[in-house]
Amino acid sequence: MTAAKQKCPTCSGKGSHSRALGVVSPDDFSYEEWQEYLNGGYDSQCDTCNGTGQIEPKQMIRHRAHLHMERYGNMETFDGYGEQE
Ligand SMILES: [Zn+2]
Repeated sequence: MTAAKQKCPTCSGKGSHSRALGVVSPDDFSYEEWQEYLNGGYDSQCDTCNGTGQIEPKQMIRHRAHLHMERYGNMETFDGYGEQE
């Protein structure tokens, strides 16, 4: 019996994302760099789903850890349950 997979919330099922950069603005890029950013040139493989775009329910913890890292910048305060959306 396998649990139903669901779309990965970290990358919205794309398997990669550019969230590692945080909030970005076109002002931070040259025109060429910005075009590359828009085309996904700065995306990295999603570590929540390992690039598959789908996760099992038990893997939600990875997404919560990701959110926690994004919000607080470190994992020391992560309680093992994580952030709510
Ligand atoms: Zn993902």
